[in-house]
Amino acid sequence: MSINREAYWEIRKELGVEITLVAVSKTKPVSTILALYSEGQRDFGENYVQELTEKQQQLPADVRWHFIGHLQSNKVKYIISFVYLIHGVDSLRLLKEIDRQAAKAGRVVDVLLQVHIAREETKYGFDAGELEQVMETVRGAADEWAHVRIRGLMGMASNTDDVSAVSAEFRGLKVLLDRWFPADGILSMGMSGDYQLAVKEGSTMVRIGSLLFGSRG
Ligand SMILES: *Cc1c(COP(=O)(O)O)cnc(C)c1O
Repeated sequence: MSINREAYWEIRKELGVEITLVAVSKTKPVSTILALYSEGQRDFGENYVQELTEKQQQLPADVRWHFIGHLQSNKVKYIISFVYLIHGVDSLRLLKEIDRQAAKAGRVVDVLLQVHIAREETKYGFDAGELEQVMETVRGAADEWAHVRIRGLMGMASNTDDVSAVSAEFRGLKVLLDRWFPADGILSMGMSGDYQLAVKEGSTMVRIGSLLFGSRG
């Protein structure tokens, strides 16, 4: 299995230095990840806890591992010692467990809150009202949340060719980012099929898999 080197450098050029490229390496073998690492890539995203822990042990220590999948509270402990950024925090309960495990590990762990912006019912995440509740809960009692740092928001747009609908969803997420993180929030939005739209709407971090590694089949 090989990487699409040309696409990689094209995307890197497009994103410049301001926007972080997270290479989504789920289901890809260690050798393929190493090929992209050799090009200079350091941020990699994984969706499954067991797969992530296995790869982390086999790859260089300076890889920044992003957990981008749906994280179950009972699995936080397996990744807490090394994870760089957890993108999909979608409940206060999960956030509390991350804080608890991070305290045990002697770390402060960066996270993004996932916001539900798509039409599909199946995608995870808070709505605007729930986001407000979480932000107020955490900011109102900062000493109880000393081991998590909420750095920004993450979202996934609808899976549709309707460009204006996808753009509107991304725009809505940017509005929420500006409201809660007016200074320097991270905005994780955009995948292979829609990252250019996401960038136009203010994304600061894109998560791209199939364009770099070929389709997962
Ligand atoms: C798989 C995945 C991606 C990457 O998707 P591609 O379409 O392959 O770029 C991005 N974000 C999340 C949350 C994913 O699960």
